[in-house]
Amino acid sequence: MDADWVARFADEVIAEAERRAPGKPIVCASGLSPSGPIHLGNLREVMTPHLVADEIRRRGHECVHILSWDDFDRFRKVPAGVDPSWNEHIGKPLTSVPAPAGSPYPNWAEHFKAPMAAALAELGVEFRGISQTEMYASGAYREQVLLAMRERRKIDAILDQYRTKAKPGAKTVDDDEAAALEGSGAAGEDDGSGVGGYYPYKPYCSVCDRDLTTVTSYDDETTALAYTCACGHAETVILAEHTHGKLVWKVDWPMRWSFEGVVFEPSGVDHSSPGSSFVVGGQIVREIFGGAQPIGPMYAFVGISGMAKMSSSKGGVPTPADALSIMEPALLRWLYARRRPNQSFKVSFDQEIQRMYDEWDTLSKKIADGSALPADQAAYRRATSTASVTLSETPRRLPYRTLASVADITTGDEEQTLRILREFDHEISGLDELRPRLDRAQYWVTTYVPAEERTQVREEPDTELLDTLGNAERESLRLLSDNLDAHWSLDGLTTLVYGVPKIQAGLDLSAKAATPELKAAQRTFFALLYRLLVSRETGPRLPTLLLAVGRDRVRKLLGT
Ligand SMILES: [Zn+2]
Repeated sequence: MDADWVARFADEVIAEAERRAPGKPIVCASGLSPSGPIHLGNLREVMTPHLVADEIRRRGHECVHILSWDDFDRFRKVPAGVDPSWNEHIGKPLTSVPAPAGSPYPNWAEHFKAPMAAALAELGVEFRGISQTEMYASGAYREQVLLAMRERRKIDAILDQYRTKAKPGAKTVDDDEAAALEGSGAAGEDDGSGVGGYYPYKPYCSVCDRDLTTVTSYDDETTALAYTCACGHAETVILAEHTHGKLVWKVDWPMRWSFEGVVFEPSGVDHSSPGSSFVVGGQIVREIFGGAQPIGPMYAFVGISGMAKMSSSKGGVPTPADALSIMEPALLRWLYARRRPNQSFKVSFDQEIQRMYDEWDTLSKKIADGSALPADQAAYRRATSTASVTLSETPRRLPYRTLASVADITTGDEEQTLRILREFDHEISGLDELRPRLDRAQYWVTTYVPAEERTQVREEPDTELLDTLGNAERESLRLLSDNLDAHWSLDGLTTLVYGVPKIQAGLDLSAKAATPELKAAQRTFFALLYRLLVSRETGPRLPTLLLAVGRDRVRKLLGT
């Protein structure tokens, strides 16, 4: 078997599933809270079990990847950009909160689930979505809820072992920030302790629909549960028939492990500390629900770079859809497949994306010629296909940095783009062959490259600069200009721009020479060209730039 982390977890999960429930489909799980835009960092919560589930399927086992939508969690906070009047909904289930204004979706949770589900489909992630609202509302967990209430003293005692271990004030992460970054909406949730005793079930108020309720008594015989609400409402319900409430997170999670028979479910760094939901849940699932804790590796933080200047239209939160707008699904999958869950990495929206794409193209070449290492081959296979689909890819791959710089210079003009790109690859028959990579690069340039890094070709010559030039500099510009026609191709212009300083040094245009003096002269010459063409010291590769600008305009700007 392949020597990568995915294969090793698959071995472990298959063996464990055979011990627990031989012959049954293997269950891997993820959980997401649609409390706002789902952060790109949370994609690891889904990709880790996805890759393991996919490997299990590749080996011919039946495997289900369940994605639990924690849409019955309370609405905690109105995100930036949403009307403050949504404050009145704080404390209601996410599925009872109206969607942001203008949304086509029936409620808050659906509004934020939809783009995540679309991104997962594009990434080739197969999953069975489970709405926790539907599960609780249908009474699916009734037995488990009654069991937890019956065993409330035992649960309280288990929780208490960890409560005493946790250092007071140890949790320094802001609740909302933690909630945004972890896989479920667990942060800051109370564990069921209250002045009137410990109750692991929390009803949503039947009058105001918020969870500002306190259970005041519970009768094990009749299942009569009395609660009061901050709104002033008080009532007694029969828990055996009640469906508008849920178990507190630390009990809810292990209950679901047991209910679904989950064998693999990773969790974020903050779930795995002593006293965390994962650790406490392990004891609760064994001692209360008679189940077993899943194999649950901790996954490290996924960082994002280059989003600082992003507009706050979406609350400034980078989502998987944002990443897919600048990179192809296979590349994004690869970022997750090639790093073990405990290794952190970054998804780059800045210049670094070009280097990432170069690395990806280098790997593709090694795969094609058979020189890739086994672990790299495995990561590549997981990135480009699943047990059931092969992800679509760009038929003709030009380097992302080339596409980006051409998009930058041509500002998207299709005819000009095609003309220049044909200089890189004469066999290009049309731009469609270069898509979707070309579209991603174009979108990256127009959306994420800061204005001061964009290329702006001068309209008029910089006469002030031209007037200061000495004879040698004027001569270099004249040499370039005179030879443009004979070298009007990517290769030709490459030879020419490096060659002009050679001619000036008394060498042949295409002489093989690389003395420090010559290199310095070339750098100086390039800087002069950039200043005259784009008013900066650097820019896209000169041959590309010259082709994009066109001969006539080049001559005009060089004053030749
Ligand atoms: Zn109320």
